[in-house]
Amino acid sequence: MLNRSESEKLFIRAKEHIPGGVNSPVRAFNAVGGHPLFIEKAKGARITDVDGNVYIDYVGSWGPLILGHAHPKIVEAVISQAKKGTSFGAPHIAEIELAEKVTSAIPSMETVRMVNSGTEAVMSAIRLARGVTGRDLIVKFEGCYHGHADSLLVKAGSGVASLGIPDSPGVPADLAKQTLTLPYNDSEKVRELFALRGKDIACLIVEPIAGNMGVVLPKEGFLQTLREVTQENGALLIFDEVITGFRVALGGAQQIYGIKPDLTCLGKIIGGGLPVGAYGGRKDIMNNIAPLGPVYQAGTLSGNPLAMVAGIAMIDVLSDPAVYEELDRKAETLCAGLLGHAKRLGIPAQICRVGSMFSMYFTDQNIVDFASVKTSDAEFFKRYFNALLDEGVAIAPSPFEAGFVNTAHTDEDIQSTLKIAGRAMEKAMA
Ligand SMILES: *Cc1c(COP(=O)(O)O)cnc(C)c1O
Repeated sequence: MLNRSESEKLFIRAKEHIPGGVNSPVRAFNAVGGHPLFIEKAKGARITDVDGNVYIDYVGSWGPLILGHAHPKIVEAVISQAKKGTSFGAPHIAEIELAEKVTSAIPSMETVRMVNSGTEAVMSAIRLARGVTGRDLIVKFEGCYHGHADSLLVKAGSGVASLGIPDSPGVPADLAKQTLTLPYNDSEKVRELFALRGKDIACLIVEPIAGNMGVVLPKEGFLQTLREVTQENGALLIFDEVITGFRVALGGAQQIYGIKPDLTCLGKIIGGGLPVGAYGGRKDIMNNIAPLGPVYQAGTLSGNPLAMVAGIAMIDVLSDPAVYEELDRKAETLCAGLLGHAKRLGIPAQICRVGSMFSMYFTDQNIVDFASVKTSDAEFFKRYFNALLDEGVAIAPSPFEAGFVNTAHTDEDIQSTLKIAGRAMEKAMA
């Protein structure tokens, strides 16, 4: 067992003035026991905690850090911008440059509005969809997380699932009623719902590859069905690509599956590790946002110069297709090795992966939706997680999260991770 006494002390101190000692509940170790690690610094594939322990990191700040921690190009961009000013509250060129890069990487986004988080992006896109269609109902899928805006905090996946909160108190019942939920990957239920209520539905929002109940892939034809039924009923299709955007391909999941949504939400990678979200799509829809149109949405720090230059540096590096090929190859090696260990030890296990995002489930069930995800053995995961951490491998502290391979992971990192993971699985069996 590693010495984590400094982290423990800080956690006790944090809890005095920060609810639960954390600024986002997923960082708490409720699902795995113990206390969170306080991080001193991070570089490349490694994080160092305040006790001086070093871990190979597969959390990547929950998705944004596809280039690893403190990538030199991003650090340099942020420092040089900070010297020129950290916020202007007025337009500047980096906003245009990032918008140009985003719209060229993701052609369905004809125009794009920058905000400060994924939550804000989704919340704004939903308001826009309601404003444009003049309808109130929205449709989402069980286990998909779209940030913590009121309308979307219904059957919302990992963070809430690990804490065992089905639906958050504080969400007005009248609002929750406007959110209809369906099981992920169930095309038939989607058709049934739209046959009944299609003309009252403003939009359907989906994670085109689910990443917040762990990774769950869309079945063949599922996204196509969503595209068809929304179009037939005058409802908008919103892809929440806050995790998948720039992660599974430069053009996101919509590039891989060849589906063109009306609106797309981005976050995480787009900010290069700084707080950014964005939403965009068809120009005729986006033109309804203030100041062009009546749908209001604003932000004091939106398009923040530090965040914009970080995003630009990030996308520049990602514009080389070889980056994604290498990520895919490393993630493939890692996942094949993990499954190999499980097989050798007779542990029931599944892995769902697209490119560098993946989840391992300790179950013999085929993973297609939130119900199948929940058959994963949470007690086994807890022992596995702690055994990994003890040997210097950090994964997300919940059985319902994605893991991320980043460009900073070397082939040697993957191999040493596999050795440690094999021992951790053995230990978790005992
Ligand atoms: C992380 C995430 C969000 C919320 O983004 P925040 O920046 O945490 O507000 C929304 N949707 C998806 C798919 C996400 O993964």
